[in-house]
Amino acid sequence: MIYLDYAANHPVDPAVLQRFCSVEQTFPGNPNSRHEAGRTASGEMQKITALIAEMLDVDPASIIYTSGATEANNLAVKGLARTTRHCGRHIISTAIEHPSVSASLTWLQEQGYEIDLLPLRTDGTVDLEELEYLLRKDTVLVTIPAVDSELGTVQPIRQIRELIQNFPNCHLHVDATQAVGRIPFDFSLADTVSLAPHKFGGLNGCGILVKRTDLVLEPILHGGGSTTIYRSGTPALALAASLETAMRLALEEQDSRVSHVLELSAKLKKALSAYPLVRINSPAGAVPHILNLSVEGIRGAEMQRQLDRKGICVSVKSACSVEGTPSRAVFAVSKNRNTARNSWRISLSHLTTEQEIDAFLKQFDLLYHELTGDNK
Ligand code: PLP
Repeated sequence: MIYLDYAANHPVDPAVLQRFCSVEQTFPGNPNSRHEAGRTASGEMQKITALIAEMLDVDPASIIYTSGATEANNLAVKGLARTTRHCGRHIISTAIEHPSVSASLTWLQEQGYEIDLLPLRTDGTVDLEELEYLLRKDTVLVTIPAVDSELGTVQPIRQIRELIQNFPNCHLHVDATQAVGRIPFDFSLADTVSLAPHKFGGLNGCGILVKRTDLVLEPILHGGGSTTIYRSGTPALALAASLETAMRLALEEQDSRVSHVLELSAKLKKALSAYPLVRINSPAGAVPHILNLSVEGIRGAEMQRQLDRKGICVSVKSACSVEGTPSRAVFAVSKNRNTARNSWRISLSHLTTEQEIDAFLKQFDLLYHELTGDNK
């Protein structure tokens, strides 16, 4: 099998798994319990949280552990909207959000919130002039992905922050799930930021919402206070420890991982661009681990099926989105329904080898001629 879907899920690093097992076996207590085992677990939880906070350059009190980025996005979007409902019900977002953000916004719309979606420029970034035009006194939330999962566009978060600065009721939520562990990200720019370690060698089933410490959020899960009033449940100590290891490895090795992926991505782009019916949808400035493309006349889902038959895993839209509909993200940059319907995504990692890229290109070449009938 050739796995080219690392933006959907990244295999766990053996060191991460080892840390999980060792912490799970060493600390039997519930960090909320008031006895020795509980106090020891709680002390370890605090140590781990401090290490994560140091790596992200945030206050340890701003870290809320969640079950993943889906929960972190739900908590931020719904929690912020509910807390600020007396200030307004206007929200600005984009068509390139992960379904965990866009479906939360649809839910809020059903509760009477007004949602405006920012258009994208041809380079995939949000239209800042339009943002300036749409911002109002009753805008309570702007939500933008740092990097979207389909095209890999890096959004100008600093400039967005500057525009929002003049609107005191407005908060900025950034879904940084495809950015953290892959490219540098400045957490001080947003009020809330979500991330998940299974995108960079960590385990599934955990994530973080980083929340500015002075900001109040209405929780979505109700129960005992746990490590924070914002997320009830027994703190998952071993998952937090595994997240810390995954993040440390990703940050320490970030430069070498990026340069390896850059080389492979350049080779892929060069080879694929030579086919007359291929259109590269990812903008030039996209992160190197994500490459979105369309083959004219061939549905993305068909391409995925055919590649799957040959043992190659790629993705159509994000793994959590509705099947059979054109990609909203690709439509937003191409303005072409067919291009959006025909789009699919290759995503790479430092684990991807040049031999895998060569083998993929060989199979793609055969399929391209077979499916398009282009034998030139
Ligand atoms: N946000 C983005 C940009 C993603 O790519 C994903 C993963 O597919 C998520 C959120 C959801 O993450 P999780 O699977 O941890 O809930």
